[in-house]
Amino acid sequence: MSHGDSDELQAARAQLVSYGARLLADGLAVGSAGNISVRLGDIVAVTPSGIGYEDMRPADVCLVALDGTELGGPDAETPSSETPMHLAIYAATAAAAVVHTHSPEVIALSASRPELPAVHYAITSLGGPVRVAPYVRFGSAGLAAAAVGALDGRTAVILRNHGAVTYGRDLAQAYDRALLLEWLARTYRMALSYGEPVILSAAELDEVTAEARRRRYGERRGGPDRNTTAR
Ligand SMILES: [Zn+2]
Repeated sequence: MSHGDSDELQAARAQLVSYGARLLADGLAVGSAGNISVRLGDIVAVTPSGIGYEDMRPADVCLVALDGTELGGPDAETPSSETPMHLAIYAATAAAAVVHTHSPEVIALSASRPELPAVHYAITSLGGPVRVAPYVRFGSAGLAAAAVGALDGRTAVILRNHGAVTYGRDLAQAYDRALLLEWLARTYRMALSYGEPVILSAAELDEVTAEARRRRYGERRGGPDRNTTAR
């Protein structure tokens, strides 16, 4: 823990370490690949570059301002190389947490398809069919721009030959979306093994969204998204 951290920041550091370990356990990344962040007002807490999740401690978590200025002092670790992408997503959306994975099902899909279609209605949690953003080198401003562009109206984007990004109102929701995205990609691949799958229409997806809203899931149990996927 750094001196001067608020309780909220200390909690965010611990949460990023525990979710980093989950990235490995859930097969969403290997080694130190992928990265996650949480926004607390004007500060973003983000996993450091080049430290394996198994070795990461709360004190290793980096703090940056929304303009990318590093706030950690001279002994701080280097923020994730994809910090510009995280910051671009915070600037463009209402995200409070961002999860970037190198999960195999979405990477495999990204190499051969332009989007993940609606093979299951739970995709409404991600805003609909998930686009594959064009390939741009890791850590670049171009990748950040490509990700934000392909996120339009979605809470998830697949990065071609690279991985995926999801966001949410908190880290639990962003992470659940990363798991859902990987599950949907796997399900789609399985469906393709039978031939060309039937895909849900925009009208059918709209009906799901309207029904979830009608049931007021958002007021009862934390949003239509989670409950739509749980049914
Ligand atoms: Zn990456």
